[in-house]
Amino acid sequence: MIIAIDGPAASGKGTLGRRLAGHYGLRHLDTGLIYRAVAKAVLDAGEPLDDVACAGRAARSLDPSRFDEQVLKSHPVGEAASVVSAIPEVRAALIDFQRGFGRTPPGAVLDGRDIGTVIFPDADIKIFVTAAPEARARRRTLELQAAGVSVNEEEVLADILRRDQRDSGRAAAPLKRAPDAHLLDTTQLDIDAAFRAAIDIVEAVRAGRQRG
Ligand code: C5P
Repeated sequence: MIIAIDGPAASGKGTLGRRLAGHYGLRHLDTGLIYRAVAKAVLDAGEPLDDVACAGRAARSLDPSRFDEQVLKSHPVGEAASVVSAIPEVRAALIDFQRGFGRTPPGAVLDGRDIGTVIFPDADIKIFVTAAPEARARRRTLELQAAGVSVNEEEVLADILRRDQRDSGRAAAPLKRAPDAHLLDTTQLDIDAAFRAAIDIVEAVRAGRQRG
């Protein structure tokens, strides 16, 4: 089984993806991490983020077994990732890895921006997770504060809006809901309620398939 989860920054898709994978005994891939790793490699090389040759090379030589999640999850790396991820050569170089990961038994939950539209258009289940920008900014601010980072919620909101615009407005694999994706709006839901709603979606799709 392949479950594709897409959605904007701080929508809760990563946590949902991890929990769904645990619940169904599937593997989990946070695909944001691979774009973040490409961005980090370009930053480390001291090259501009729109250097197509450097970013393409970084994407072709990624080694996910060496990812340092804590470093990759930092705010500047996330911002840089949303720039390098608009480069078509970067996206093309990462397709096989993502498809190979998903097709390896017993299947996987992948979360990102283009999983249901480009990477696995034939995924068994697609969920598009969203939430109002203000709710996402609130969550991200609390998360950063809990990690001891001092942040201003208005700046976090401005970052989120900028990132939404970049991810949805780009030509290469923009963030958008696949026509057959189930919409999960988590604005009013905490993570447990969002998880239950996601399980309900998966179970409804599976029941429908058994009946059909
Ligand atoms: O999900 P996360 O915030 O870690 O993603 C970082 C950036 O990587 C996103 O803003 C987006 O530009 C890019 N990304 C992407 N396609 C994916 C996953 C992430 O373009 N499948």
